[in-house]
Amino acid sequence: MASSARRKTNCSKCNKAAGIFTCRGCEKDFCYRHVAEHRQELNKHMEELTNNHDLFVQTIAEQEANPNCHPSIEKINTWEQKSIKKIHQAAKDAREELLKNLRGHRTQVANNLQQITEELNKARSEDDYVETDLNEWKEKLEKLRTDLAATQMLDLSQDEDARTLIPKIFVHKSSTDIFNRTLNDIQILEDGNLAVHGQTQQYAIVRGKNEYSSGQHRLYFQLERYQNMGGIFCGVVSKTMSVETLQDILNKLDLYEQNYGRRAFQNFYSANSTISDRIKQVSDHNYNDGYYNQTSTDSKFIPVCLTASVFMNKKNNKVELLINCDAKTICLTNEQTQQKQNCAVELNICPLPWQICFIAYSANDRIRISELNSVDNEQATLPARRRGIQPKKDRINRADELENNYME
Ligand SMILES: [Zn+2]
Ligand SMILES: [Zn+2]
Repeated sequence: MASSARRKTNCSKCNKAAGIFTCRGCEKDFCYRHVAEHRQELNKHMEELTNNHDLFVQTIAEQEANPNCHPSIEKINTWEQKSIKKIHQAAKDAREELLKNLRGHRTQVANNLQQITEELNKARSEDDYVETDLNEWKEKLEKLRTDLAATQMLDLSQDEDARTLIPKIFVHKSSTDIFNRTLNDIQILEDGNLAVHGQTQQYAIVRGKNEYSSGQHRLYFQLERYQNMGGIFCGVVSKTMSVETLQDILNKLDLYEQNYGRRAFQNFYSANSTISDRIKQVSDHNYNDGYYNQTSTDSKFIPVCLTASVFMNKKNNKVELLINCDAKTICLTNEQTQQKQNCAVELNICPLPWQICFIAYSANDRIRISELNSVDNEQATLPARRRGIQPKKDRINRADELENNYME
């Protein structure tokens, strides 16, 4: 304490030097009176955290108790009712059509029969017929009989394309996004969960289906195969960005790769340059077609994070893309190394809604959209006290632990 006083360390609350304690948590200094206050603040935060945690547990329990409360259940029910209605209507239409056909056919046969009936009656009353007449009527009757029998053979056929009557409903296996649009040599596979670059060395883009216009969204990707050439860019693109503009950007990136690619491989800065940097380098100074802001050096053609070789240092790496529409930022995190890349999004260049996008260069690069992140893996790397809130019976111990963080 004496040494603290000599160094003139004052309480961060009241600025007095007496009885100074240092909190290991926030590394601030407090006097005897305010150390207690600080402890109370911590307790209060702990209480809030605990309440939030308990509410969250409750939310999960409620969802478990009422699994049918999901908004999509309502959609499935509506689809079911509509489909049943459609089937009833289609069956009714088919029955009516069949009966109408049968009726028409029967009427035709009956009319023809009536003709024979009259001939028979006339011949019988006048007693005017010979063998050939009898044979003729017999043949006519036989023909009518087969005509009538033909209606029994009236068959149905079904439209092989099930979508024409009822489009099948299905649930996306994961709650995350799927790829659904491409430009240049990249292919979407496995119901939109996988994007695979073709055999060429050429920039190609794959875009997601979902549109993000508010809130925060966390997505996980796995680079199943990735070569250290040209880089892979991961980020968002405005839904409004035209195919022509995207094609132009890809062409310019190709041009950059042709001109500077080899140099970029050895130049750390260049290897990490953004899409904007690269396009700027290959564009002449008068280049301006609306999506490149000459006055701003950090303008983003497409707000993407660069997953350069230094960032993606291992194969099969998992990355998290945090899309924050409210803060107008995106952040890419390497799940393994926890390296992060932040990128501000300029709304005038990349207006909402956004869609996820990957821009890949190398042949056979594979990008997979992953399911939710596994919590177990994360816990293993976190120190014990960061693993979350302890069960209720341990809360006293936890408070002790907090107290032990104070030192003189
Ligand atoms: Zn503190
Ligand atoms: Zn104080």
